[in-house]
Amino acid sequence: MTERLYQHDAYLKEFNAQVIETTSDGVMLDCTAFFPSGGGVQGDEGTLTSQSGETYRVMETLDGEQGILHRLDHQGLRQGDAIKGALDWQRRFTLMRYHTATHVLTGIMFKDYGVRVTGNQLTPEKGRVDFAFETFDREALEEGFRRSNALVAQDLPVEISFVPAEEAKARPELFKLETAFHHDYSELRLVDIVNFDVQADGGCHVAKLSEIGKLVLTKSENKGKANRRVYFVLEQ
Ligand SMILES: [Zn+2]
Repeated sequence: MTERLYQHDAYLKEFNAQVIETTSDGVMLDCTAFFPSGGGVQGDEGTLTSQSGETYRVMETLDGEQGILHRLDHQGLRQGDAIKGALDWQRRFTLMRYHTATHVLTGIMFKDYGVRVTGNQLTPEKGRVDFAFETFDREALEEGFRRSNALVAQDLPVEISFVPAEEAKARPELFKLETAFHHDYSELRLVDIVNFDVQADGGCHVAKLSEIGKLVLTKSENKGKANRRVYFVLEQ
């Protein structure tokens, strides 16, 4: 298994690791700062550099049963090789901003309007969230964005902690986003926007809300009964 360094420090940009397995299109490492795509959030890109100085581009990071697969642009690394990993930090930090912004928006829509999120897709270019509106209310959506930006302006801290899985499962409010990461671990990771909302979540977040910038609603469309798809972008 791969130790998930990003779960303890989302701001880790470089790390040293060892190749523990190779596949036809990539490698698994004993530890990594690369976030694997999951929960509707794109995985990280960046580079792995061997001790001989050869650099491999990480095209995609994927979660697997055996560990985290770093898909590389060419072969050459072998089991036991020491590497230095480096994230495409600008891209990852943008994804962190979108991920935390999604927690803010979905938290507001649930708390203030009782509207659940049923899915999300986050890229460095835009966020997409599906809301289960019973009867769609454009005004509620626009007000939800206003309230989200007002919350961001409060600059609340975002804290990470780990709790025994049994304890977390007794708190259903931790899983209200319905799009939780797979949680078959003995410990669950909690992402706490302090004094606002706590969610069980394996992903990468900014340390305080002001890093998000401003949420801007760009489009909303109907996607079947009681499903409204909402697109937004972040401005600095
Ligand atoms: Zn999340």
